[in-house]
Amino acid sequence: MKRKLKIGIFKLSSCDGCQTVLMDLPSLWDLCEIAYWLLGTDTKDPPRVEIAFVEGSVSTPEEEEFLKKVREKAEVLVSIGACATSGGIQALRNFMTEEDYLRIYPEPEHLRILSRSLPAGEVVPVDYEIYGCPINPKLFENFVVSYLYNKKPRIPDHPLCMECKLRGNICVMDAYGIPCLGPVVRAGCGALCPAVGRGCYGCFGPCRNPNLKSLTDWFEHLGVSREEIVGMFRNENAYAPEFRRLLEEGLEGGQNKPADAG
Ligand code: SF4
Ligand code: SF4
Repeated sequence: MKRKLKIGIFKLSSCDGCQTVLMDLPSLWDLCEIAYWLLGTDTKDPPRVEIAFVEGSVSTPEEEEFLKKVREKAEVLVSIGACATSGGIQALRNFMTEEDYLRIYPEPEHLRILSRSLPAGEVVPVDYEIYGCPINPKLFENFVVSYLYNKKPRIPDHPLCMECKLRGNICVMDAYGIPCLGPVVRAGCGALCPAVGRGCYGCFGPCRNPNLKSLTDWFEHLGVSREEIVGMFRNENAYAPEFRRLLEEGLEGGQNKPADAG
């Protein structure tokens, strides 16, 4: 390897799952000089780096300010994981009224939060996005190596079904009538869930041009209720534009709006 890449791994609102996955990647230490990583360094201020990898959604004013600083000091900024690329589970509150979601806190007046939980790309310019909940460390490694060799990184945007077929899985929807989001979700996980006989539940977010109408019609044909179908899309990628539209407009453009949509 000709040189090491100077990187920072930054965290916003998240469960730490994506950055924890990176600990399983021994090559990370050979490929990169890690200038910032709260899990392994005690640096507080974001240093100047070639690539800033950002995990988590922007949920508080402090995170918004911190992310802007990170952006200023990074040549390239990469969002990693569903929280940073589409707002994560935290963004489910974006479909509710403030009154609804604040009622779970005994003293909500102490909270300092933004009115919505946002993907990083809605706050600062983002150069690349690596998807998943959590991300696939192999795709992360491919990104770093590709960057070092001036190659285009492999960031799949085709449907999971292709990956599933290539793996030789039996189609759980076709064979057993189990609803599966694979036809509208991007590949990248290795089709893990269908490989163990369950349907995909959407960790990697919408694929390119997902045909949601066709899939939701098929789910209805399988006997899945409309309420259950809406529930399937209320996942960690619910706030990704394609899924968000379906949740806000309903299955037939405005009908079947989720009960708590704001
Ligand atoms: S994308 Fe998933 S695994 Fe990664 S930080 Fe968010 S919730 Fe955790
Ligand atoms: S199991 Fe799901 S992901 Fe696999 S081919 Fe069938 S619909 Fe597609």
